[in-house]
Amino acid sequence: MMSTLNFTHDATRRSWVETANDPTGDFPLQNLPTGIFRTAAHPLPRPGVAIGDQVLDLAEVGSAGMLPTEVIEACRQPTLNALMALGPAAWSALRGRLSELLGADTCPDGPLRAMIADCLVPLREATLLLPARVGDYTDFYASIHHATNVGAMFRPDSPLLPNYKWVPVGYHGRASSLIVSGTPVRRPQGQSNPAGSPAPVFGPSQQLDYELELAAFVGPGNPLGTPIPLARAEESIFGVSLLNDWSARDLQSWEYQPLGPFLAKNFATTVSPWVVSLEALAPFRSAAFARPAGDPAPLPYLADATNTAQGGLDLTLEVLLLTPQMRARDVPAHLVSRGNFSSMYWTLAQLLTHHASNGCNLLPGDLLGSGTVSSPEKEARGCLLELTTRGREPLTLPGGESRAFLQDGDEVIFRGYTARPGFARIGLGECRGTILPAST
Ligand code: CA
Repeated sequence: MMSTLNFTHDATRRSWVETANDPTGDFPLQNLPTGIFRTAAHPLPRPGVAIGDQVLDLAEVGSAGMLPTEVIEACRQPTLNALMALGPAAWSALRGRLSELLGADTCPDGPLRAMIADCLVPLREATLLLPARVGDYTDFYASIHHATNVGAMFRPDSPLLPNYKWVPVGYHGRASSLIVSGTPVRRPQGQSNPAGSPAPVFGPSQQLDYELELAAFVGPGNPLGTPIPLARAEESIFGVSLLNDWSARDLQSWEYQPLGPFLAKNFATTVSPWVVSLEALAPFRSAAFARPAGDPAPLPYLADATNTAQGGLDLTLEVLLLTPQMRARDVPAHLVSRGNFSSMYWTLAQLLTHHASNGCNLLPGDLLGSGTVSSPEKEARGCLLELTTRGREPLTLPGGESRAFLQDGDEVIFRGYTARPGFARIGLGECRGTILPAST
């Protein structure tokens, strides 16, 4: 199921929240991403919607009787799990109502607009929290460009393993160390086996890296033992955020065989606070990855015409780096890569359907990571491991600094957005994290 276009996508409509009409902003009337926030004045976490530079308090709007009946209780909860569980008809009803309440045309100056305006909080006064209580987090490996580049470094003889074009490869991550954007990241300690060392060593990671990924939050999900057919997969995707799968490459290369990532990955995973719905992204769908001649077709449970024609997402994803020296000199964060999610070998629907294909039950608020988003061009590689060829070709930054891997004090910033003539630009906001020194 793909969302169809309706009045909520109409780019000619403006919001009476003036900052939402900035054509370069992330949160116009056509976006309406949901998240969880609190303020000093109202410290209980509750759902909100980003509009321009404001957050609309959904708990308050619901209490005033202004939301569809079926979502009011879910909009009073301290996480979005209950809203995620309701499914696409309820999500769409909420989006439609919010679009009316925040639209300049549908909510003219008057008592109703004044009542809604009373439920707005400036974003700068809001503390944004994780959108959901994540029960399970799974990380995939859906970019064939990333898989090939990384495989070439770790296994030059067989960069891409034979299962890659058949199975959406993934592993079970760790939900306890998911953190919201802005939370500092402590450099992990761990075991590695440096070249030339007589024995493995334990200490702070010397090859700390980021991975640029898209996160998908699971909606209603499925009962144990009941798969989710591909045609219905998107009914169980509440929306997407940015995700940084921080990775300690020196730990990873020593520990990853035979069971895959473990302590190299589970010390922290950062998620951006705003969840953008697939309905908001409906105008920006793209064809699924065009498999070159010679690649196998996906097995039938992972293939249908709708997924092939529009299973992809035309989302631009950027990585910026800000070092302590740049910060001290007021140098702005430096763009180190820019890729596009439409280059992924597997679509979000295929990842979700594959995950549930054995009967594994997915629950509301579960999180799926896409895997590092790397597009074919060198400047579109989504981690330092690839960008610097495992540290051998360091990046040069403004001011002459160089980076093979992350240093203490470095801040990594992800941004995501999509734009197309005739439609309002939709942004995902930012996903940020600064590296703290290893604990002693
Ligand atoms: Ca990853």
